[in-house]
Order: sequence, then C-alpha cells, then structure tokens
Amino acid sequence: MEKDAPALVELKGVNKHFGDLHVLQDVDLTVRKGEVLVVIGPSGSGKSTLCRAINRLETIDDGEIVIDGKPLPAEGRALARLRADVGMVFQSFNLFAHKTVLDNVTLGPRKVRGVPKKDAEEEALALLDRVGVKNQAHKMPAQLSGGQQQRVAIARALAMHPKVMLFDEPTSALDPEMVNEVLDAMVALAKEGMTMIVVTHEMGFARKAADRVVFMADGQIVEQADPDTFFTAPKSDRAKDFLSKIL
Ligand code: ADP
Ligand code: MG
Repeated sequence: MEKDAPALVELKGVNKHFGDLHVLQDVDLTVRKGEVLVVIGPSGSGKSTLCRAINRLETIDDGEIVIDGKPLPAEGRALARLRADVGMVFQSFNLFAHKTVLDNVTLGPRKVRGVPKKDAEEEALALLDRVGVKNQAHKMPAQLSGGQQQRVAIARALAMHPKVMLFDEPTSALDPEMVNEVLDAMVALAKEGMTMIVVTHEMGFARKAADRVVFMADGQIVEQADPDTFFTAPKSDRAKDFLSKIL
C-alpha cells in the first residue's frame, strides 16, 4: 500500500441489529486504496455481517458506508453499479452449477457492464489463467475440485473490475490440501495492489499479505494492529484468548 493512499471503504458509526442481537456496534473502519485488511474473531462476532453490509447484501440500521467517496445507495441502478465495485468471494463457491466455468466468469460483465461476448471471453480466459485454472474453462463447476472452483469464483469477481475485493472465509470449506492454491492466488492479488478485506483464520496469509489485522468480538472492533504486533503482542484479553485457541 502506498503511503497516504486515499480511503476506499469507510464505515462510520455502523450499527446493525437482528432482533435483539446487536450484531454490529458502532463500527468505524477505514480501508485505504491498496490496503489488505484481515478480519479475525470468534464465530458469531459479526464478520460476515460486516462484509455483507459493505456490499449491501445486508442493510444497516444507522451509520454510513462510503465506497470510493460515494455513500452506498439503497437500491436500484446505482446500487448495482456500486456492487460491481465490490467483488465478493464466499466460503461456499456459489458458482452457477448449470453454466460452464467460462460462462460463470463472463455472465456479470456481459449482463451488468454490457461487454460484448468475445471481449468478455478473452478477458475471462486471461483471468482464469491468472488464477491457474484456464484449462478448466469449458468444464462445469462440479467437474472441478473445491480449490479450483474457489479460484474460478475469484476470477468471476475480478471480471467485474472491482475496486475492492471482500473474501469471507474463502478457504474454510476446502480440503486442507487445496487451501494453499487459493491463498496463493489471493497473495498474488494483494501483491498486485488490490484493495482487499479478508475474513480468515489463516494466520500464514495474514502474516504474509496483511497490512493490518482487525480483531472483532461481539460486533465490535476490539483491537487492530499490523500483523506482527497483533500476533506477537495482542493487547486485549479477548484477542489473547482467541489467539491461544487458534495458534
Ligand atoms: P461471523 O461471520 O463472525 O461468524 P455473523 O456475522 O455471521 O458472524 O453473525 C453474527 C451474529 O448474527 C450471529 O450470532 C448470527 O447468528 C447472527 N445472524 C447472522 N445473520 C443473521 C440473520 N440473517 N438473522 C438473524 N441473525 C443473524
Ligand atoms: Mg462468518
């Protein structure tokens, strides 16, 4: 990340409830252009809700979310455009099962951005090549391993030319031997300067790629620091307790 890079994602006083559950509590967070932010925390702490709020898969009760200087619109065309700025990769691969890999990657650009088929396919093949699955382009998702499917999901998100990529536990549904091929693709993306928010418990990835680690518990950001500081000298008891369980 460049020094003094501008803010790309800003959350200001964000609150979200599910009934009585206060799942995001006064969350303030700024992610700068080119920054790689790793979000960790116990299950149920609100990490997925945070990601989903950033691309409006969840509404928020109050506060503000600003992407590249523009407040998140509530609905309509503006929301579709803004969502295209925010690429998302989930734990489950979410590929369209009845479409080829190539169609999965070209569908968004063709439908949302109006890219001609030939151009969309050319770019899709380049993206699939980048994540190492170009030779799977004409297969159906079910014919691919989990690690390959997840890399297709990354290529599909990149095809929309997002300004920021959100990853919500992208490797936690994978067999162990496939975790690294997905993390390697993410590290490469980080090195290319992509702005990334990554929810993961993969500490190797955090140490290698993160500019900053944010620790969440009970809907709050409890502490944040560069990975070295956070992993070697966590301040809060919650973070110490959490790290003692996963490291
Ligand atoms: P994390 O990703 O950190 O595990 P989540 O953001 O998924 O946490 O969930 C935070 C809390 O909100 C959990 O207690 C979860 O059960 C609850 N929750 C998440 N989504 C919903 C929903 N759609 N309706 C009700 N409760 C929800
Ligand atoms: Mg989650």
